[in-house]
Amino acid sequence: MRKLIWQSLLQSPLSEPISAADDLGLAALGRSLHTAARRRLGRSLSIREVDAGSCNACELEIHALNNAFYDLERFGLRFVASPRHADVLLVTGPVTKNMREALERTYAAMPAPKWVVAAGDCAADCGVFAGSYACVGAVASVVPVDLHIRGCPPTPSALLRGLIALIDRSDAQKPF
Ligand code: SF4
Repeated sequence: MRKLIWQSLLQSPLSEPISAADDLGLAALGRSLHTAARRRLGRSLSIREVDAGSCNACELEIHALNNAFYDLERFGLRFVASPRHADVLLVTGPVTKNMREALERTYAAMPAPKWVVAAGDCAADCGVFAGSYACVGAVASVVPVDLHIRGCPPTPSALLRGLIALIDRSDAQKPF
């Protein structure tokens, strides 16, 4: 045990360092999102994520926003456990029959103003799952969608750009 503690204290982290160019681009996007959220909400942006039936690759990219590599919490982006604390509902996958009610109830539980972002091609039009007996349809067929972020899966940078566009657009459309 003592050996393990010493090793963990002395070794450098096992995660790969992000490339300098990527980090600069991501940092700029993160700062833009933080500024946009402060301007629009006066605080950080809180996101509730719902997997409505994805293959989970979209989740891997979304989780990457929070990992040690991208570390987006440094810009005030937060994923929250309760829809009652969320500004944005981030939905992935086509909506399956089993997840329809959960998605509707999550949306209903969020306080206004609230936005819905459909992330990934499946969320936009069912993607590779189109026509499946298990799917109700795209996210927009169940809850009102404010923004689609395309990609299979969308990258963390695409997700960030989408969130910035959402806040910028909402500045003009939805006065408090
Ligand atoms: S968009 Fe692609 S990665 Fe995302 S749930 Fe659909 S198939 Fe999976």
